[in-house]
Amino acid sequence: MTLIVAKFGGTSVANVERIKAVADIVIATRKRGHQIVVVLSAMAGETDRLIELAGQAATTPDSRELDVLLSTGEQVTIALLSMALQERDYPAVSYTGGQVQILTDNVHNKARIIDIESARVKKALTEHKIVVIAGFQGIDESGNITTLGRGGTDTTAVAMAVALNAHECRIYTDVDGVYTADPRIVPAARRMDRLAYEEMLELASLGAKVLQIRSVEFANKYKVPLRVLSSFEEGRGTLITDEDEEMERALIAGIAHNRDEAKLTLRGVPDRPGIAGAILGPIAEAGIEVDMIVQNTGVDHTTDFTFTVHRNDFAKATVLLGKTAQELGAAEVLSDDRIVKISVVGVGMRSHAGIASKMFSALAAEGINIQMISTSEIKISVVVDEKYLELGVRTLHSAFGLENGSAIMNDAVG
Ligand code: ADP
Ligand code: ASP
Ligand code: MG
Repeated sequence: MTLIVAKFGGTSVANVERIKAVADIVIATRKRGHQIVVVLSAMAGETDRLIELAGQAATTPDSRELDVLLSTGEQVTIALLSMALQERDYPAVSYTGGQVQILTDNVHNKARIIDIESARVKKALTEHKIVVIAGFQGIDESGNITTLGRGGTDTTAVAMAVALNAHECRIYTDVDGVYTADPRIVPAARRMDRLAYEEMLELASLGAKVLQIRSVEFANKYKVPLRVLSSFEEGRGTLITDEDEEMERALIAGIAHNRDEAKLTLRGVPDRPGIAGAILGPIAEAGIEVDMIVQNTGVDHTTDFTFTVHRNDFAKATVLLGKTAQELGAAEVLSDDRIVKISVVGVGMRSHAGIASKMFSALAAEGINIQMISTSEIKISVVVDEKYLELGVRTLHSAFGLENGSAIMNDAVG
């Protein structure tokens, strides 16, 4: 018998009716002869509601207590699904992260899974039970509840699939697969049948929130086939595996965008060795992650230094940079949180020149000014004013011929 791990996101368990629909899918999977372990999110909006409550109780809620609070959302849905399955005479049992023993480090609110003690789950499976596990949560060495960061249920699901050596990890959500761009922004976006881990890793890290980046890292590391599909309609979804012969030979897999970043510039800093370290040192020490970095060519012994951080860290980074500016005698600090990052991603870019210039001229034709650029082997990202988000993503989507009906576009670059 093959084992399937199936994860259902917030919209798929938004109310009891939806939870009953999930029970239908779970039972259908069982009837096809699979063992099944289900991993659930909290009801849609619940985690946001809990964060909001915490904000009312304290200006800076304690991170340990926040995890105690946030983990309650998933405890509600796992119990309700187990009840709904039992009502239909299917033996089901729910476990919290602590009960399974999903062991994490102790970094509250963004903990990493270290190990999963799967004995309890395996025993329940041998007793023919449907096991329902709370996503997004774990327990640290001292027994404190931890959570895995927003979207963390994806990672719980893949980690469970690894621990149980599952045949496939299915991520059920409100879209029927991974698209060439967020279908909410690009109505003409096209669902992909297959995708390479590497491309999904880039798409997820560049803002495609359909999968938490860490879940894709796990899946790639342990080679667990990942399938994204809809809990609202039947379909094959998108299968994410290692790159293989059957995959479309498209240059560009998709366009991703990220509106969670903010940009900081230090103008007129002395152009001498050690400057980049002096600027970014305090930022790193504060635990703030830096994404893009650009330093201009020095003129008159001074230069400008620009980088981006997560918007949540914007205020803190601005204060820190203000101090650094004084110490270094910089001319001024400029900060802007009204930016977005738009990226084109595709393994086909490796062997093709001309993608960057095509991207830049398509944006220019729409009058979209590029503020920053960064590239890797399989992606090009630009930072633009946030007012150009929709226009920018749609423009690139059509410039690279990603719409319906133009799937293979090897000659799209002249
Ligand atoms: P869940 O609550 O099930 O975890 P999420 O909201 O986290 O669902 O992820 C699904 C959403 O991801 C979709 O509704 C869609 O708007 C968004 N999304 C962003 N980029 C893409 C993409 N390339 N393909 C599919 N969905 C995407
Ligand atoms: N409920 C958590 C969140 O909203 C985890 C998840 O749904 O993946 O981020
Ligand atoms: Mg999600």
